[in-house]
Amino acid sequence: MPGMYIHVPFCRSKCPYCDFYSLPRISEEALDAYTKAVEAHLRRFAGQSAFSAETVYFGGGTPSVLGARRLNRLLGAVDHFFPLQKDAEVTAEMNPAGWEEDFFDTLYKGGFTRISMGMQSANESELRLLGRNHRPADVRRAMQAAQKAGFTHLSLDVMTALPVPSEENRLENLRRSAEICRELGADHVSAYMLKVEDGTFYARHPERYTFPDEETACRDYRFVADTLESLGYRQYEISNFAAPGGESRHNLLYWHDEEYLGVGPAAHSFLNGRRFYYPRDFQGFLNGALPEEDGPGGSFEEYVMLGLRLTEGITRSACIDRFGEEGGKQFDALHVYGAGLARMQPKDDPLLIVSENRIALTRSGFLVSNAVIASLFESIE
Ligand code: SF4
Repeated sequence: MPGMYIHVPFCRSKCPYCDFYSLPRISEEALDAYTKAVEAHLRRFAGQSAFSAETVYFGGGTPSVLGARRLNRLLGAVDHFFPLQKDAEVTAEMNPAGWEEDFFDTLYKGGFTRISMGMQSANESELRLLGRNHRPADVRRAMQAAQKAGFTHLSLDVMTALPVPSEENRLENLRRSAEICRELGADHVSAYMLKVEDGTFYARHPERYTFPDEETACRDYRFVADTLESLGYRQYEISNFAAPGGESRHNLLYWHDEEYLGVGPAAHSFLNGRRFYYPRDFQGFLNGALPEEDGPGGSFEEYVMLGLRLTEGITRSACIDRFGEEGGKQFDALHVYGAGLARMQPKDDPLLIVSENRIALTRSGFLVSNAVIASLFESIE
């Protein structure tokens, strides 16, 4: 069953590293207009295709800027047009600061089941460096309030490869951030490596920051992954870790190359075999502009590329289930080539695991995933 993604393109302020589509300092009128526009777009899609939503994900931007009542109203609209499955996972991303007092109670009663919070770091000076408008105490307060309201599925973001001016406490701070996730009861952690994206404040002012070299960034990644695993989180995707049962069902749907409908400026979709997206144009979205075509989706290559982001990788049986005999043949080509590649790698630190029915990247492989996947594709060209 498809998932639903609603993009909420508002933030209280713009973080210097962020290239997501979001508008800072927006008025209440604009938030209301946006809510109505999302409803209108949902209604239009419902006239074209019918499905029951297995997951709903409000991402951004900062969905909490919309406020709990508008979020509930939109969830009601999703349920009206694409009836939620009984056990649907419904996630809202949020900023740890700036939420109204009854935020969590209202969302929980409205049917939300999961909260994903942009903690990024448990260290005050790192948060300042990241231009975040929250403090470590805000995360604790928000997590406690969410749990009190009834939420058991809580995710925290941790950022690695930060441009900290001194290396002195780098790993210690990272360890603390990971430990806080466990201490505060998160059942999911997303550990993202910071990259300097074109057009961001970081990219425009590199002289103000000390960005880590590749070796340091890789060391951060391995360190946070090992630390999270020692705390009981299992890595299930390049950047994602979960306590048992805490995996994000919505994100798994992306990595399994399943279909979803995305609504909102900059939201992408894969529905009825085709990919399409809304341009990064808030006013256009309010005016009812239609999404733009992005070609067919669901090819074997796409399936492999997404599946290899997961620690479980891809299997021959799943390829056959999805693509029939042709999928089996393509998997076999990958398998032969992959086994050759695996033999060329050091035994104590391989990039790839190739067993009879499965191909998966290792943690070292995740660090160079694009190159390894490109090599694998050479075998089916
Ligand atoms: S709060 Fe999130 S989406 Fe908004 S600017 Fe910061 S990183 Fe980007």
